Amino acid sequence: MRIAPRNPVRNTMKLAQRVSRIDSSGIRKIFDLAKALKDPINLSIGQPDFAVAQPVKEAAIAAIRADKNTYTQTQGIPELRELVVKDEKDYTGRDYTGEQVLITSGVSGGLFLALLALVDDGDEVIIPDPYFVMYKHLVNLFGGKPVYLDTYDTGFGIEAARLEKLITPKTKLLLLNSPGNPTGRIFPKSELEAIAKVCAKHGITIISDEIYRTFSYVPMTSMAEVYPDTVVLVGHSKSFGMTGWRLGYACGPTEIIQAMTKVQQYSFVCAPSIVQYAALACPTVDNSANIAAYQRKRDLMVGILSKHFELAPPDGAFYLFAKAPTGLTGDQFVDLAIKNNLLIIPGSVFSERASHFRICYTVPDEKLKQGAELLCRLADGAQAKG
Ligand code: PMP
Repeated sequence: MRIAPRNPVRNTMKLAQRVSRIDSSGIRKIFDLAKALKDPINLSIGQPDFAVAQPVKEAAIAAIRADKNTYTQTQGIPELRELVVKDEKDYTGRDYTGEQVLITSGVSGGLFLALLALVDDGDEVIIPDPYFVMYKHLVNLFGGKPVYLDTYDTGFGIEAARLEKLITPKTKLLLLNSPGNPTGRIFPKSELEAIAKVCAKHGITIISDEIYRTFSYVPMTSMAEVYPDTVVLVGHSKSFGMTGWRLGYACGPTEIIQAMTKVQQYSFVCAPSIVQYAALACPTVDNSANIAAYQRKRDLMVGILSKHFELAPPDGAFYLFAKAPTGLTGDQFVDLAIKNNLLIIPGSVFSERASHFRICYTVPDEKLKQGAELLCRLADGAQAKG
């Protein structure tokens, strides 16, 4: 007979060192506060507000009914990989072979596998700051060292010369995100070409997180289009409102995708089977109305907020990253907003700086206007006090 450990508390002292290198306090604080508020104006949630399209839902239900509920091949079902090859050819002009495509459990899964497959202890990973919150923590978890490329004084753009200055013999990767979370910035082609030149000179691989690709309000170029040594990560969460379904994919150099596949074999095993079959119906979905709606919401928010806040109008995604009013840090301004029943996220969650705050504008127009007007009133109040 097995006997349960007498003192389970002792186990907490046995946690691996690596866990102490990550910290979830920033975002958790906001979610805890959100639970405590009654009917807040919530501009903190980073996901679309539209439902999964009917044909995709039907395809998921049909897959369950047809007993497609078992493990799939580690790299994903062949039909979906073929679709990815075609989509990427259309989007980037790149001809990927089947071996260069891996279906993942969301872009989070892709990031996890790519970093685990590429980062050795002490390897440096350059991350433009501000950054998506997961990057820093995954790099730390896997023993790497995040090296931040500050972009605040370049409208969140990347200057090739500044990038090159950060490169050392230990630099392994550059982790890009375009359109960006939290800034909404899209790196134009010329900027990507300059980045590619520096990375090629120093033999640096790029991981390009393009999860917001479909939400582009200016021309969008994939890094994969200009730099062959790129692992591009794309996902269904945002484009198709499927955040809870956990689907995405990675395309890139054979050696890297094969290594990621090996790691997937011993971790996720495969992306959820039902969702892979459901995704075959995604090409039938016309997303243009959703994209147009978010572009309009962006314009609405920029129109109201830019008179009161310093901000770079976003080119894509559904976020806006603005500077807190003079005299307040982003954290202090977020505290003030939360006291007024408005939820936003402090920039310090996404940055080594604490000067900004992020809003997500995927909420109905009425709520959005209420939120924007409240933000302006709070900024005016803070200014008057200052
Ligand atoms: N990358 C970025 C930039 C994100 O904002 C998100 C989700 N917020 C992810 C990756 C993860 O997305 P998922 O795992 O749902 O595909």
